[in-house]
Amino acid sequence: MSDAAMKLVVVGAAGRMGQALIRLVHGIEGVTLHAAVARPGSPFVGKDAGEIAGLGPNGIIIGDDPLAAFLHADGVLDFTTPATTNEFAALAAQARIVHIIGTTGCSVEDEATIAAAARHARIVKSGNMGLGVNLLSVLVEQAARALDPADWDIEVLEMHHKRKVDAPSGTALLLGDAAARGRDIDLASNSVRVRDGHTGPRKQGTIGFATLRGGSIVGEHSVIFAGEGETVTMSHSATDRTIFGRGAVKAALWARDKKPGLYSMLDVLGLSS
Ligand code: NAP
Repeated sequence: MSDAAMKLVVVGAAGRMGQALIRLVHGIEGVTLHAAVARPGSPFVGKDAGEIAGLGPNGIIIGDDPLAAFLHADGVLDFTTPATTNEFAALAAQARIVHIIGTTGCSVEDEATIAAAARHARIVKSGNMGLGVNLLSVLVEQAARALDPADWDIEVLEMHHKRKVDAPSGTALLLGDAAARGRDIDLASNSVRVRDGHTGPRKQGTIGFATLRGGSIVGEHSVIFAGEGETVTMSHSATDRTIFGRGAVKAALWARDKKPGLYSMLDVLGLSS
């Protein structure tokens, strides 16, 4: 592996995660901010990235040309939108750089595009880049394996800030997926993502989701195992989005000398079974 600092591009540079990443990259050894990219037409294009992120000027001017930014970089940290991430996956593969994807709300088609790009690129994608939720997902998988679906119902409850645009959250889906793995079932065909009106009784073996939105909450998740006469609840609270940013930088450094492929944070953290 090269000893030189890893040159990272932050895309979505004016977003909540983008700004947190610019501040973080500045303070972490072994990485350096190579470029910052915002949406074409964004009022932040042409502004100093450090200044926007509250660090003071750092000489990195926010651009709107992702390919130019990727060409001489080593990796890209991407917390944007599914359409943007799709486009950037092809560009990052073309530039042969590491692509760290935190974007959530991707469709099945988006996931297929990203998997295709991973034939040539090193991609780490996770609905949650933090250590705590990934550890929780391992525990949820174990609990789901141990608790008989005839006796135990699984519900995933989440709450996020009022500006979040996708539901259920990527983290809720990640935790639901861990529960499904534990039960050896497919999540998509066994999940109940919304309930409204006369729904009838709960179907045995399903995994339910409930979504709350409001205020400035960074991320609250609970996986509830509800049995007859007892309930087991496993929870995680995020109070600061730098935990996701730190995970993303860790993932970039980890992926630097890996073979092309689509990896998860469980791989990065050594938690994959
Ligand atoms: P946000 O504040 O809306 O930031 C997204 C940014 O992407 C915005 O600044 C947006 O610019 C920009 N963008 C959109 N299209 C672009 C393009 N073509 N080129 C460059 N930039 C573009 O949202 P956020 O809270 O930071 O979250 C971003 C994503 O990360 C969401 O999907 C969220 O769920 C996810 N997330 C994941 C984790 C994790 O650990 N995996 C943690 C937190 C958040 P405009 O506003 O100008 O359109």
